[in-house]
Amino acid sequence: MISVVIPAYNETGNINPIAQRVSKVLENLGPYEIIFVDDGSMDGTLGEIKELNAKNKKIKFISFSRNFGHQKALKAGLDHARGDCVISMDADLQHPPELLTKLIEEWRKGYDVVYTVRVDSADTAFIKKLGSRLFYKIINLLSNVNIPLGAADFRLLDKKVVDEVKKFQENWLFIRGIVAWIGFNQTSVEYVVNSRTQGRTKYSASRMLALAIDGITSFSILPLRISIILGLTFSLGSFFYSIYAIYAKVFSKAVIRGWTSILLSVLFLGGIQLISLGVIGEYLGKMFIEIKNRPAYIIKEKDL
Ligand code: UDP
Ligand code: MG
Repeated sequence: MISVVIPAYNETGNINPIAQRVSKVLENLGPYEIIFVDDGSMDGTLGEIKELNAKNKKIKFISFSRNFGHQKALKAGLDHARGDCVISMDADLQHPPELLTKLIEEWRKGYDVVYTVRVDSADTAFIKKLGSRLFYKIINLLSNVNIPLGAADFRLLDKKVVDEVKKFQENWLFIRGIVAWIGFNQTSVEYVVNSRTQGRTKYSASRMLALAIDGITSFSILPLRISIILGLTFSLGSFFYSIYAIYAKVFSKAVIRGWTSILLSVLFLGGIQLISLGVIGEYLGKMFIEIKNRPAYIIKEKDL
């Protein structure tokens, strides 16, 4: 059996078309289930899903008690899918359902993870393209996972990989990173992103930045080390500078001038200190939340 997991947050107007197109593709490929994960939508999304569910038992759903975020919706889908492979994709038709045939083909060849690499369409916002490239460069530089450039949460996982992902009980899920970290036989296929026809993107610049910070901090402690290196560098610099300052004080008379250099170094070092504190705080905060061991999401209703 093939499972398809589709997280949906305020996606009225997209539910019917995606269900139709995915079913059409899967019809010829064997038994399947489509699991919609309603991430606390505030519009008619859940209603549309339930309507489909009433007509077609292959269409199942999980509904969260509130909005928990895309990554957690995906995790819930993976946790509940029963297929021999699980495909995750967006609800907004940006991920072409017709590509599923190709994903499944690769899986049947024996690959355990078939991820997709986005070839940007002409109308992808320049800033999003740039941001995404920069993000993957930085995260791959900082952490010991190697996430393919342009990888999105559109991929196929074999049951054995899904079983491993299920074991991750962390609150800050960054599934892209986890999948890269897990290993197994991986391969990729390329696709061109469609533009969104219904609704608006839920990933605003600030949400993308939050995802980027989560991605980096959940896979790397290098930012903490960078604070240490910066601290060491500046201590060493100030050590030599203090030798000079003492020398100047003892052997020359004119040492009052230098307001600019003092102001600049105080401001600069203050900035570095605040950044380092913030980095430590980020990790500490995550430990604080993680240590409480709260559930990653809460289900209000489901039909699986
Ligand atoms: N999504 C979700 N919860 C959220 C935000 C988004 O389940 O809090 C879903 C959304 O419905 C869509 C997918 O995640 O199916 C990707 O979101 P979107 O298309 O807004 O992101 P983009 O493609 O613009 O990066
Ligand atoms: Mg989208």
